[in-house]
Amino acid sequence: VSKLVAGIDLGGTFVKTAVVNGQGQIMAKSSRPSNASGGPNAVMDAMEEGVDAVLREARMSRKDLAAAGIGAPGPMNWQSGVVYSPPNLPGWKDIPLAQLMIDRLGVPCCLTLGTGVGGGIVVFGKLLRGIDGTAAEIGHLCVMRGGRQCNCGAKGCLEQYGSVTGMLKTAIEGMQEGRKTLLTELCKGDTSRLTGKMVSDAAEAGDEYARWVIEETGRWLGIGIASLVNLLNPEKVVLTGGMIGAGEMLFKPIRETVNAQAFAVPAKRAQIVAADLGGDAGVVGSAGCALDRLKTGE
Ligand SMILES: [Zn+2]
Repeated sequence: VSKLVAGIDLGGTFVKTAVVNGQGQIMAKSSRPSNASGGPNAVMDAMEEGVDAVLREARMSRKDLAAAGIGAPGPMNWQSGVVYSPPNLPGWKDIPLAQLMIDRLGVPCCLTLGTGVGGGIVVFGKLLRGIDGTAAEIGHLCVMRGGRQCNCGAKGCLEQYGSVTGMLKTAIEGMQEGRKTLLTELCKGDTSRLTGKMVSDAAEAGDEYARWVIEETGRWLGIGIASLVNLLNPEKVVLTGGMIGAGEMLFKPIRETVNAQAFAVPAKRAQIVAADLGGDAGVVGSAGCALDRLKTGE
């Protein structure tokens, strides 16, 4: 394939797009709000605008595109291209996203599971899909029976503890119990305005409570990852997303929890690392999946 592929990383907050060449190099990239509250059409408008914006920046047009790969939140069926009812996209129910984007962009559109606490399990170099294509909902591993209510309808899912949103819930719980912290000042006393950046800024400034919140988030992630390590005996666990900027403050408690919780042999084997691609992993991975499927005809 000599043409270019568009990568679209669809999240509940942002749509990231990129044009990627056959070697997986990014020619141009952009990010815009996904307008999730506007429903499916508003989100697809943002996806289409994002693709056109990166094509313009790369001085290319839609004619240069061979395909688009879309990293979308699950549950979904990657073959039929239908997204069922993602917890973070209100108003979506059984949306034939791949077909609707083919209608808009005029090129084959391939779905793959998006980023977040979730993502992919790669076995023997291939993504583990499951019989209906809904596999690898890692964010909805239960880490606490009867725990926090999740958008998926269940309680105690990893996503409610190990994502940025989960981390903020942990932070707010303690603040409501009266913990002294810089965070109160940073959010001007209104916990609904708290952001992940405020927590990392406070931690960096030496705020003990903010540090504890990040470490606690690492311990929750460690509990989920320990189950994966026992289940799959993976060589590598690659983490991406906004959280990984916290570095060792997050990774140390993850590793300690996995070592304490999982069997010794697979725990020692599994390298728990940050994605090399950082924030670009979603768009490059989505484009790569589209390229693969063009080549193999799957
Ligand atoms: Zn859930």
